[in-house]
Amino acid sequence: MKNIPVVMIIFGGSGDLAHRKLYPALFNLYEQGLIHDNFAVIGTARRPWSHEYLREQVSDAVHETHDTVDENDLKEFASHFYYQSHDVTNVEHYETLKKLAQDLDDRYFARGNRLFYMAMAPRFFGTIATHINDQHLTGSGFNRIVVEKPFGHDLASAEKLNKEITASFDEDDIFRIDHYLGKEMVQNIMPMRFTNPLIKNIWSGDYIKNIQVTLAERLGVEARGGYYDTSGALRDMVQNHIFQIITLLAMPEPKDLDSASVHQAKQDLLASMIIPTPEDVKKDFVRGKYLGSDTTFAYKQEPNVDPNSNTETFVAGKVKFAKGPVAGVPIYFRTGKELREKKNRIDIVLKHINNLYGQAHSNNITIEIDPESKIYITINGKRIDQPGIRRENLTYAFSKAEMAKVPDGYERLLHDVFVNDSTNFTHWSELKRYWEFIDAIEDAWQKENEVGKPKVVQYLPYRMGPKEANNIFESLTEHWIYE
Ligand code: NAD
Repeated sequence: MKNIPVVMIIFGGSGDLAHRKLYPALFNLYEQGLIHDNFAVIGTARRPWSHEYLREQVSDAVHETHDTVDENDLKEFASHFYYQSHDVTNVEHYETLKKLAQDLDDRYFARGNRLFYMAMAPRFFGTIATHINDQHLTGSGFNRIVVEKPFGHDLASAEKLNKEITASFDEDDIFRIDHYLGKEMVQNIMPMRFTNPLIKNIWSGDYIKNIQVTLAERLGVEARGGYYDTSGALRDMVQNHIFQIITLLAMPEPKDLDSASVHQAKQDLLASMIIPTPEDVKKDFVRGKYLGSDTTFAYKQEPNVDPNSNTETFVAGKVKFAKGPVAGVPIYFRTGKELREKKNRIDIVLKHINNLYGQAHSNNITIEIDPESKIYITINGKRIDQPGIRRENLTYAFSKAEMAKVPDGYERLLHDVFVNDSTNFTHWSELKRYWEFIDAIEDAWQKENEVGKPKVVQYLPYRMGPKEANNIFESLTEHWIYE
């Protein structure tokens, strides 16, 4: 594999994301030779760490995620890490950072290539982008920036942030990361849809009754109450992960698999997305928040949550497109905290085609994303000993050995950043459409809140959310497949 010369600067080098995801992923890419002799990583945060202390942290992070490690490799890998105490709000600190980056570039022959990673609270993204620009931190080679989610809080703030970033970076060099696009089963959606005539040819409103996307979490807000209360499930999960999945399910077949063709297909689809009216929001969307139990807090009692908060910890809703292969087909989604179990899955519900064998159950194609990874399709046959239909699932699954080889989403996506492949990142024009949709719902909810009539329904923890989520279907014959 190519040895890519680069100086990488991680803003938030002492944080959870860097420790749990970025350092282990970088080590794996180092072991594969993608980054090797000509790279340096600068970890920055406010704490007064030493280079040595950062290297220990990096080694610990690798040990925590690997059963076996070649200690010599790890030592050599960690020696490429440097720590710079840096307050992102202090302009002068960028001068020191710039100098260190230049010194390391000379030392490791990094050819002026820079990779900036914003692994910090989103409120700092704009500040960092502004100072990268006004303090001229970019190098003379390639300059790429990885921006974590959430990218903005609504369309207006996302536009502002985008402007701040594009002052220093071209669209092609901005990698808006969504780790769901690095997940094995999410990456399986396109080959499943486009390579099998059985599936490709039924992918239309003629045969698909509806599509359902469920991202269920078992955990509550935990220590993130302060942040979560300003966000809610719609912004935290739908604006990014759910929309990425829906886009892959509904987009037309791209002309090719290169980044430009895939993004073109996505943008063609999203241009036809139907933005809900306030009336649609009333009937097609449900927001809820979890109640407490003997052993758990209700959402409103969680630390750093406003007890009168209207923020939703559950949302269910509907998306429709006017164009594309599934034009007019309702795509239902739901996501929430403190649901029965962690489960990320997609159900494609096929139409009944006749009543020859009586009112059969629906036939579905299901893609399980987490915690299991598999695809299964209903196949019908006749019962052996009596009249009627026997249903079996035809399953595409992975062995344990194969699953062990599946790279973490972050490793996959970091790899793509190094090789400059933005297929599995969010283009600005896609993000903009997602925010337009989300803003329409948030605005309608805000109006309900203002007139003192917020319809935030409560739900018992560790079930499948509020019963009202069963009322968003277009017909009485539709229901959630995963109950
Ligand atoms: P974190 O709070 O653990 O880390 C934040 C980092 O920022 C720390 O290193 C902290 O020292 C540093 N910091 C805070 N204020 C600073 C300042 N003024 N100047 C310099 N450094 C400062 O956060 P995290 O969980 O690592 O998340 C970082 C980003 O990654 C967020 O955008 C989050 O949404 C995203 N993300 C995180 C995860 C995860 O698993 N942790 C998953 C997906 C996305």
